[in-house]
Amino acid sequence: MRYISTRGQAPALNFEDVLLAGLATDGGLYVPECLPRFTQEEIASWAGLPYHELAFRVMRPFVAGSIPDADFKKILEETYGVFAHSAVAPLRQLNGNEWVLELFHGPTLAFKDFALQLLGRLLDYTLEKRGERVVIVGATSGDTGSAAIEGCKHCENVDIFILHPHNRVSEVQRRQMTTIFGENIHNIAIEGNFDDCQEMVKNSFADQSFLKGTRLVAVNSINWARIMAQIVYYFHAALQLGGPARSVSFSVPTGNFGDIFAGYLARNMGLPINQLIVATNRNDILHRFMSGNQYVKETLHATLSPSMDIMVSSNFERLLFDLHGRNGAAIAGLMDNFKQGGGFSVEQERWTEARKLFDSLAVDDAQTCETIAEVYEQTGEVLDPHTAIGVKAARECRRSLDIPMVILGTAHPVKFPDAVEKAGVGKALELPAHLSDLFERDERCTVLPNDLKAVQAFVSQHGNRGKPL
Ligand SMILES: *Cc1c(COP(=O)(O)O)cnc(C)c1O
Repeated sequence: MRYISTRGQAPALNFEDVLLAGLATDGGLYVPECLPRFTQEEIASWAGLPYHELAFRVMRPFVAGSIPDADFKKILEETYGVFAHSAVAPLRQLNGNEWVLELFHGPTLAFKDFALQLLGRLLDYTLEKRGERVVIVGATSGDTGSAAIEGCKHCENVDIFILHPHNRVSEVQRRQMTTIFGENIHNIAIEGNFDDCQEMVKNSFADQSFLKGTRLVAVNSINWARIMAQIVYYFHAALQLGGPARSVSFSVPTGNFGDIFAGYLARNMGLPINQLIVATNRNDILHRFMSGNQYVKETLHATLSPSMDIMVSSNFERLLFDLHGRNGAAIAGLMDNFKQGGGFSVEQERWTEARKLFDSLAVDDAQTCETIAEVYEQTGEVLDPHTAIGVKAARECRRSLDIPMVILGTAHPVKFPDAVEKAGVGKALELPAHLSDLFERDERCTVLPNDLKAVQAFVSQHGNRGKPL
């Protein structure tokens, strides 16, 4: 499989190289040159497969030519073997034909484990083969950091540095990062905010001289391998609910548009999906596009669903590329415009095309709490605030009651106790067994000033399993 850039000016890469690449050299994002397409008979024959075997069938075409089948199977079995539920992604019924796909049974209790557990193993496998080492520098406002650290903790060939804003992530989120020890794991608390952290990561990609020749790898959701891993659970859910003979709809709590873009790809690969609902919080740039064809940046608001607090959705460019007939020059133009501070609209027929599949809703904090309370009353289930936004959007935007509606359950409620408490749900939430002693564990973390040079010096001092590069 070959991968091309959404801006049309970067060289095409194979899977192995796309795994190690961040942004394309032209500033675009990598997408498959052409998508695999499965027949209905083929998809139907996968019913009842264990998750890792389904994952093998869905993802095999994407890694073809880079990873032999037997090795890929082994990697997938290990990856999904660490999940705490034997179904890996179980479905729980909320109401008639309304289901939550629980994606929070991985090590860090959020759906990001599906992709980052795999990414860590794929990186290590590829680097071992090439005899190379890499350094990961990533910024997190919460979920990504812990999932990336968990995914890389056993990697022999990766040193990982995660920057989080000092005293600005929740205690559960911080402890999920700082209690994982390893000579290749480095937590850095920056005396600044999340944007400062992200800016430092961006600047480190722009000037890599402090790495002394070691390659820098991105773990944010622009990494193609993360999107690829997320396609699988759309097939998994649909097969449980009578697909592909029956079509299914999905409501997806959305920030950077990575998770829902994977659903869009599943549909283009042959899975009958009737409707994809973009569920956002008050940071609603995608809702404003889907409802009014306006893609315009606005100020950032802090909400009860922090993992969706974004101003722009980096993966949206991948959808725009398809909507524009895969014309890289058109996307480069739009994105240039956007960078200059302008927003944009797309031509009417392109927007209408998107709206055939996508609906959207923006849900504020009060509605989020109302939904947590409502679902608790109806079912006894406690939802996390992100998932609650998905449920609210599903109930408002649903086109047909005959078609099963699956809401992606993106996080475990115990990660977001504030929202649950605000919703007035009195039920005490317990950490799952593998994290039950989280609050007693020792922590390891280095506090650094909001200064790029200080951070780069730290990375270069510790980037080779704790030793200088
Ligand atoms: C990352 C995250 C999201 C948003 O996913 P995107 O792929 O960025 O759209 C939603 N919910 C939770 C809990 C997350 O961690």
